[in-house]
Amino acid sequence: MIDYAYLYAQAKLARSFSYCPYSHFAVGAALLCADGSVYLGCNVENASFGAGNCAERVAISKAVSDGKRDYLAIAILGGKEGQAPQFCPPCGICRQFMTEFCDPNAFEVVLYHEDGAPEVRHLSDLLPLQFTSTDLE
Ligand SMILES: [Zn+2]
Repeated sequence: MIDYAYLYAQAKLARSFSYCPYSHFAVGAALLCADGSVYLGCNVENASFGAGNCAERVAISKAVSDGKRDYLAIAILGGKEGQAPQFCPPCGICRQFMTEFCDPNAFEVVLYHEDGAPEVRHLSDLLPLQFTSTDLE
């Protein structure tokens, strides 16, 4: 049983670290690994806009670089800097990035409504007809 309130709190903490001087749109993500560990990520922008990175990919990259590739869920919170988070689905690049490591029908993408209520989606909903390693064979 995934504790969505706990993941919300972790994503909120991650969001507080957001570096978003250009968009002023702060995002935090909390990635829950199968071993129970949680990796935080925030968006990290850059003066060369394309060099920036999203919170979701930061969190997953941190886990991968620690040798962890088995994930249960990712919680995402985003919204204008200094304001309460709004419903914030992941961008297309992040959906593709998650596809590399996550079971499309089991991995949970947890989005939160403005009242804090979680909405759980699977990658198969968010990114149908995924391009995966099998497409390269
Ligand atoms: Zn993204």
